[in-house]
Amino acid sequence: MISESERAAYEGCQLPLMLCSVVDGHTHAEVVSDGLCRRFGMGREELHAALRAGLQNYTHPDDAAWLHSNTEDFINRRREELDVVFRDRSSPDEPYKMVHAVSRWQKMADGSEYALYAYFDMDATESAISRLFTQFADEQSDLIYTDPITGLKNFNYNRQFSMDHVERIRASGGVPMFMMLDIKGMQGYNQAFGYTNGDKLLRIVADELERARVHADGMVVRGNDDDFFILDAFKGDEKAIAEKLRQINERIKDRAYGLTNGLRAGVCVMDDDTRTTTAMDRARTALREIGDDMTVLCRFYSAEKDEIYWFRRYIIDNLDTALKENWIRVFYQPFVRTQTGKLVGLEALARWIDPRRGVIPPNDFIPLMSRFHQIWRLDLYMVEQVCREFAVRAEAGLPLLPVTVNFSAQDFDHVDIPAALDEIMGRYGLERDNIVIEITEQDLATGTEHFHEQLRALHARGFKLWLDDFGSGYSSLSIFSQFKIDRVKFDMELIRHLDDAGGANRRILRALNNVCRELGIRTLCEGVETQAQHDFLKEIDCEMAQGFLFHKPRPIEDSVFKAKNIGKSPTNFETKDERRALCDAWLNKGKES
Ligand code: C2E
Ligand code: MG
Ligand code: MG
Repeated sequence: MISESERAAYEGCQLPLMLCSVVDGHTHAEVVSDGLCRRFGMGREELHAALRAGLQNYTHPDDAAWLHSNTEDFINRRREELDVVFRDRSSPDEPYKMVHAVSRWQKMADGSEYALYAYFDMDATESAISRLFTQFADEQSDLIYTDPITGLKNFNYNRQFSMDHVERIRASGGVPMFMMLDIKGMQGYNQAFGYTNGDKLLRIVADELERARVHADGMVVRGNDDDFFILDAFKGDEKAIAEKLRQINERIKDRAYGLTNGLRAGVCVMDDDTRTTTAMDRARTALREIGDDMTVLCRFYSAEKDEIYWFRRYIIDNLDTALKENWIRVFYQPFVRTQTGKLVGLEALARWIDPRRGVIPPNDFIPLMSRFHQIWRLDLYMVEQVCREFAVRAEAGLPLLPVTVNFSAQDFDHVDIPAALDEIMGRYGLERDNIVIEITEQDLATGTEHFHEQLRALHARGFKLWLDDFGSGYSSLSIFSQFKIDRVKFDMELIRHLDDAGGANRRILRALNNVCRELGIRTLCEGVETQAQHDFLKEIDCEMAQGFLFHKPRPIEDSVFKAKNIGKSPTNFETKDERRALCDAWLNKGKES
């Protein structure tokens, strides 16, 4: 909202300017200055009416589209400023003149933001313009640059003058440091004690921050709501800054009767060429990094953490595109029968092949997708791609080995997975034993009742259920009495550390394999990288193996999936009869031992 005193100040301005609100991407002139009225030779009401009608016939028709697109860009993309030159006239009878329009975002005392447009005829000299601007700012300096609640400098001041302060700090030999601070739990404070007390707290904070400032050219600024900025000289080290903030917080708590937790800060130490706009973004990033961690008072910006932050944003912002443009590809990792080395199936593993960043492995994007509840989209996409690529394998003359797909417990909260699977597989004419469901031990152990029911439903429909990453430490063996699991995949950590602690994992793997056999559950060991590991699995008769020793995950175009490399009769694969005989032998062996 524009207050009465603000309105009067802008209306009285001799510069041709107007203050506009932005609603749904459209601007509405709220205040027009005397200077603008004079430029168009209209009274204030008349000019408002003309602006509402769109000021037809003033802008040169050849320049209208260009002006419009620049303004749109400024408004909708929240550019810092608009700076355009176009032909315009002050009345339809006048000739066109070159006009220079500039616009900035201007904050009112209550924090609301407006677009401030100013128009200069190009024949007015630069110096005349800046004189007018400076004069206006000088006359109305309190109103424009001071925060009415705390008396501190405000956001407009920061925007306009912070670089001057930075340069003065640098000139005195100091290293400038930009801090962004917020009050922990300010919203709750306002709710509990009312806005009048909230304002009092803001004044206490402002006062303490002003006192703590070290450099004469430093400044303390009140930003939005409970945000404060400090520009100061960096003294000491990160620990010293944190300690100083702790002391400031102590004093704030004292003065606010212990009812607040004080401030937290993100800090950016400014290199020689850092500008305040960049420093502000960095300080904000550092502050955001603290998140909900109540034990951290302040965090310094680091380029490395920034990279992580932007990488995460990139993934989230581009997820739709990655799925739509098929940036996400299925890589297949075959698994083999341990005794014969023949291929028996493939695991589908997601890879994000990014046009700019190259191959991104699932561990970099899956946790993010989980956090944003988007993983179900990936998993169904994977099912769709796998189903489509069955045809590619069939055409290549390969036996249609089953493909295992990784699912997350979260998927089942968002979609009816059994129905979705039926729908997709039905479209490709596939049977339910073509696709196997992999669920991690962790998900199974911590899943909801609904998730467990859906798994039972899948099983009842004829889908096989494999337990992934078993032995990674999330569940106990009792899980086998609650679920019908078809196959257990031993976590690769077990096989990797076979000989640690006097070979404990050897005994564990052997025992687990025997328990599974006892229960009629098949087994597979993941992450097999060496011949010694393979030999051990043969020795304990773990039925299947998967790992880089045999095959790395590869796209469907890879030569391992090309029939021409293995001949039309694919001897690398087991036939159905061969498979049945092997299964019988394996299970009978279990019964005998
Ligand atoms: P996972 O399902 O346990 O998959 C096995 C992981 O081990 C794969 O990593 C695979 O490339 C890797 N691996 C296989 N053999 C070896 C080996 O011999 N040595 C070593 N060091 N690693 C080996 P990847 O592809 O990076 O996948 C990591 C995890 O991401 C998967 O673990 C799975 O939990 C998850 N994931 C992958 N794709 C999907 C997907 O489409 N949906 C869901 N929900 N999760 C997926
Ligand atoms: Mg898996
Ligand atoms: Mg695994």
